[in-house]
Amino acid sequence: MSTPPPTALTIAGSDSGGGAGIQADLRTFFACGVHGMTAVTAVTVQNSLGVEGFAEVHTDVVTAQIRAVTGDMGASAAKTGMLATAEIITAVAKTLDEVHIGRGTETPFVVDPVAASMHGDPLLREEALEAIRTELFPRATLVTPNLDEVRLLTGVEVTDAASRRAAADALLALGPQWVLVKGGHLGDGPLCVDLLSDGTEYLDLEGPRHDTPHTHGGGDTLASAITASLAHGADLPTAVRDGKRFIERSVASAYPLGQGIGPVSPFW
Ligand code: PLP
Repeated sequence: MSTPPPTALTIAGSDSGGGAGIQADLRTFFACGVHGMTAVTAVTVQNSLGVEGFAEVHTDVVTAQIRAVTGDMGASAAKTGMLATAEIITAVAKTLDEVHIGRGTETPFVVDPVAASMHGDPLLREEALEAIRTELFPRATLVTPNLDEVRLLTGVEVTDAASRRAAADALLALGPQWVLVKGGHLGDGPLCVDLLSDGTEYLDLEGPRHDTPHTHGGGDTLASAITASLAHGADLPTAVRDGKRFIERSVASAYPLGQGIGPVSPFW
């Protein structure tokens, strides 16, 4: 027998292709030395060419999964990925309060506001954006939108450092403790710049840009690696730096698989 590792809960959708969603979250948790638990919100039908469709899981089943695992094993940290509908978001938010996860509790909670796949296939019904803003963001320790999600959630178009800061402020006004504005999709210079802020500190986090089309699951992998580091007890800026190191190595080792966009890699 050995001592159990920290636990982390992902509340997210399944990717049948194994590159993103709960599959990416679980392999990242494993690679980061954390026991992963899941509350599945939706089952997608997808491969490297795109998402063919999805079926959402009944809200009662989503919330029962959260209660079952947290009540028995506890969660050292939690994250959300694909939530699919406003009904699921509302049910998840209520249940997180009930099990004491999120802002104002001792259990950090990372919200990756997944809206669409890299192919542009929707993973969230349009009317659910308001539920993300009003029900999930105020409960989040950290939110990790990419630039498309920033635009959808705040209307701010990020084109440079000033608009990146305006985006961070607009997101913080929705209530999360910290925001990470991911700049990976901006420009084609040798560096990606992400902005991490809690409204007091504004930290530009630079990393190398890797020239690969194969980045499927990258957002999920970053948010999961941050969640894993928080589960180990790291403070938020340290966890984000750990997560960035993890995703940089995962993107550098991404592999072509199938005829479309291959996944970031857990094999280094
Ligand atoms: N499928 C699921 C279930 C996801 O959660 C996500 C992203 O969070 C994706 C697909 C899309 O991943 P990507 O944008 O890397 O293609």
